[in-house]
Amino acid sequence: KIDSSLKFADGHTMPNQGLGVYKMTEERELIDSVKVAYDAGYRLFDTAQMYGNEAAVGKAIKELSVPRNEIFVTTKVAEANQGYDKVIASVEESLKKLQLDYVDLLLVHWPIHQHFFETWKAFEALKEQGLTKSIGTSNYGMVHLEYLATKANEMPVLNQLEVHPYLSQEAMINFDRKNHIVTQAWAPLGRGRIFEDPAILKIAKHHGKSAAQIILRWHLQRGDSFIPKSVHPERIKQNADIYDFKLTDEEMAWVDALNKNTRISQEPEMVY
Ligand code: NAD
Repeated sequence: KIDSSLKFADGHTMPNQGLGVYKMTEERELIDSVKVAYDAGYRLFDTAQMYGNEAAVGKAIKELSVPRNEIFVTTKVAEANQGYDKVIASVEESLKKLQLDYVDLLLVHWPIHQHFFETWKAFEALKEQGLTKSIGTSNYGMVHLEYLATKANEMPVLNQLEVHPYLSQEAMINFDRKNHIVTQAWAPLGRGRIFEDPAILKIAKHHGKSAAQIILRWHLQRGDSFIPKSVHPERIKQNADIYDFKLTDEEMAWVDALNKNTRISQEPEMVY
């Protein structure tokens, strides 16, 4: 089952798998998806200011009516809200929408040159104030993290990156690991573009699992965290049903070999 004890460098813990809610714009659909996911064992929910659905996530969590410390909520600060004062004000707004006193993890959504350090200072202050338990980044490359390290009091505990079999990010994941940063895969399924890959289908057939389950199992065995998105109850459940089989070393190598370094998103901008 989903493991809730993935440990951060700051001492806090996070579930290894979560539900991504990007593009869930229908409030009822989002609320139902969160409920189905909770019942299937998900405890981590990943939203962002940019997704425009923090208020719906807030309602969904309220409807679950479970103790706050049973769930883990991530949100991300949008590019337009970077800069010290804007970060603080926008996170206060996010918390209002989410109807929460704190989030578990706050991420800088994208690295941008302007306000690079100021944004992070605000993150450190928000953590200090208890408005977020942990702070991290998203779409940061080595150059961004090295630059951040020159002035940060505290480094990110997690870096959320586009990772899937066509973009395996091995060097970046090793870099994160060396720096005690957890890598979390966004678009872990490559938004469905990998489901027809013959190697994935062959492994899926052998295990009697779906292509999505094989890809998520690959993430799991590599040791990264992942947040697949679906609004279909069967798929939400299926995506969490990956803990009863194992890929062999050979199968892992077949999936590793699919890497093409192709991105869905643009290359993160350089800071310099
Ligand atoms: P994903 O790889 O999770 O793919 C989602 C799509 O795959 C779904 O829309 C659905 O069509 C399909 N799918 C899911 N499960 C399936 C199954 N079992 N069988 C068949 N099809 C299935 O892509 P994503 O939504 O882009 O990424 C996941 C989450 O990552 C997002 O919801 C969001 O929370 C986060 N994210 C973060 C960033 C960032 O910049 N930090 C960017 C994009 C997404």
